[in-house]
Amino acid sequence: MPKVFDFPQNNRLIAAFSSKADGNMSLSYGATADSLDNRKNFLEKFKIDYRSLVCAKQVHGVSVVYATQNDAGQGALDYESSIADCDGFITDQPNLPLAILTADCLPVFLYNPKIPAAGILHAGWRSSEANICSAGIKLMHDKFKSDPADLLAAFGPAIRSCCYEVSEDFKSNFPFAIFRRAGSRYMDLANLNRTQLINAGVREENIFDSALCTYCSKDAFFSFRKEAKAAGRMLSFVSLT
Ligand SMILES: [Zn+2]
Repeated sequence: MPKVFDFPQNNRLIAAFSSKADGNMSLSYGATADSLDNRKNFLEKFKIDYRSLVCAKQVHGVSVVYATQNDAGQGALDYESSIADCDGFITDQPNLPLAILTADCLPVFLYNPKIPAAGILHAGWRSSEANICSAGIKLMHDKFKSDPADLLAAFGPAIRSCCYEVSEDFKSNFPFAIFRRAGSRYMDLANLNRTQLINAGVREENIFDSALCTYCSKDAFFSFRKEAKAAGRMLSFVSLT
């Protein structure tokens, strides 16, 4: 079964991520022949129409887009219609499923039950270093007057510090996100994003972490590091009811 984030006060939110068993969800990476069927089957479990999905042409940047009903279906049936130069979405509109696709990068789920409003971010190391969490939280504030102290946040499956080895010349703006173990250097992507969230005003107790590692979770998830070009993508989404 897909993992669902069971936030407290989640009466207006559906938030979940797929696993490898649900199949490749990408229309552009990995084996794509069954991707539309995979999306349909996965989203049907939540009574969501896969044709209304909003997807992004992810570029490892910090651009977050406020999605409205006008965007419904962008990238749902073909990659080309995905929203360009975008690594995250927010919305306050119901029945508008917002998706990101990952295989090692960290999916960050955001939810403000008081508005209600929701967001989803694609946080690889570049976007994390550039603070995409702050960009998403700021846009929610600008559009909906969302108070970061009211936000609930969650992390889906990603490559974790157990497996995310980086080279000696890898430069990080955040030394605390890099640590040394048995002579090698590792990055802690989740901890970096946790810190970015807290610095942006999210309460630590409102951050929920699946703690799942895409690399070492016994083939439960696609991993770009493990499978390279053959890797499919998991789909993470939020949808307000
Ligand atoms: Zn691991």
